[in-house]
Amino acid sequence: MAEYDAIVVGAGPGGSAAAYWLASAGLKVALLEKKELGRDKVCGDGLTPRATKALVEIGVRPATESYHRIRGLRVLGADREMELDWPSLSNFPPNGLVAARAVLDADITRRAMEAGAELFERTEAVEPVRDGSTVVGVKWVRKESAEGGGVVKAEEGTFMAPFTVVADGASSSFGRALGIRMDPNYPLGLGIRAYYKTDRSSDDFIESWLELRKDDLLLPGYGWLFPLGDGTMNVGVGLLQTSKKSLNVNLNRLQHDFIDCLPRSYGITHETATGPYKSARLPLGLSVRKPYGDGFLCIGDAAGMINPFNGEGIDYALETGKLAAGMVSAALSRGDTTELHDYQVALTDIYGGYYRLGRLFLKMISKPELFRLMCGVGMRSETVMAFALQVLANLGEDHGGRMADRAFRGLVRAAERGLEDYSDPQIPTPNGVKTRESDTAGV
Ligand SMILES: Cc1cc2nc3c(=O)[nH]c(=O)nc-3n(C[C@H](O)[C@H](O)[C@H](O)COP(=O)(O)OP(=O)(O)OC[C@H]3O[C@@H](n4cnc5c(N)ncnc54)[C@H](O)[C@@H]3O)c2cc1C
Repeated sequence: MAEYDAIVVGAGPGGSAAAYWLASAGLKVALLEKKELGRDKVCGDGLTPRATKALVEIGVRPATESYHRIRGLRVLGADREMELDWPSLSNFPPNGLVAARAVLDADITRRAMEAGAELFERTEAVEPVRDGSTVVGVKWVRKESAEGGGVVKAEEGTFMAPFTVVADGASSSFGRALGIRMDPNYPLGLGIRAYYKTDRSSDDFIESWLELRKDDLLLPGYGWLFPLGDGTMNVGVGLLQTSKKSLNVNLNRLQHDFIDCLPRSYGITHETATGPYKSARLPLGLSVRKPYGDGFLCIGDAAGMINPFNGEGIDYALETGKLAAGMVSAALSRGDTTELHDYQVALTDIYGGYYRLGRLFLKMISKPELFRLMCGVGMRSETVMAFALQVLANLGEDHGGRMADRAFRGLVRAAERGLEDYSDPQIPTPNGVKTRESDTAGV
């Protein structure tokens, strides 16, 4: 039975970042990943300057052709189009990136290994080991490809550690085994994407289409085109699952219709798709109310950390990975190996107001008339949209700055002080959407 200072379950951006920071602090770390290094992941592949900053901190060098540099957002809505550069800020880089997840996630994992973490691929955490109520280890199973297809169990074992970081993504089966629950009253997103060959792939703007429609109904969501710089684009749609209207929406159909509505000049058609549609869920807005317990804490999607404004979660997975690593190494140096309540306090301090504001925003855009009004007013003014971009991407100066920075901080503070919380009832899954990440054939 191998002994570690910390076990990390899942080598997505969150888990690998946590493993990197833990190993950099001199701790002995086991990083368990049920798939292989270089696995794909359903995502838009977009990184804002916030995510870029967290990535560079880990030592990932995005100056290679696998990372396509992005200067801002092109937004289309209300019959208008606008190009907005990322805001110029002292605390964030001036650019974002687009990178395929197979490359991005493997690069972050390699940084964790270079820092000293031990990676166990094809190794699934299946059950926590407890001492009373405290998690003190993880039982795992390693699988190998079998002759003639499928996988077989090759090995099983147990790792022991005073702390486990749970980074197993949106479906978080290990988190559930620990009793972690997403609050069903919190908003959930659904997304679908495919890759397309196009000569627009070297565009240096990511693109968002604000008006997603089913028949004539404006839906709470958006369509995206994120260029990878390699002759392809990640094109998809994201939908908020809050309104009854979104229930009858078939995501495959929505993606199909979105491709149909793109201008012919884009050269993106069903025939230029390089693979099938793939869809997955997005746990939004800090939807796990207590993301920790005795001997463990949850990060990234396993903690419901996706930004409710725009569906980005890579930056918050990287950031909570670092935060969790700091909490664990501080607790170990104090010799205190039980609860990590400070983690929840820190999450609320750093993200509470912003995510609460985001949940209010979702409540507003789930009313089609209000959403239409917001698009119409916003798209008439570049100043308004530049401010919206800053808020949506959570980019602002921590102190001082321009009027927009101060206004943004004011909004977050107002939300912290008690805007009404999100309390819509849980709404079941719309047609055509499986509840786990899944392949869905193109229509
Ligand atoms: C359609 C769609 C589009 C998106 N677009 C964007 C975007 O453009 N930009 C952005 O920032 N975010 C985007 N997101 C969100 C983003 O993908 C996630 O927030 C991000 O991947 C979270 O990282 P994570 O490390 O928490 O989890 P994940 O990336 O899901 O990693 C979890 C890892 O844990 C492994 N695992 C699971 N269970 C176990 C187990 N029991 N044992 C061992 N390993 C296990 C999995 O194999 C996986 O590698 C999108 C999401 C969707 C669904």
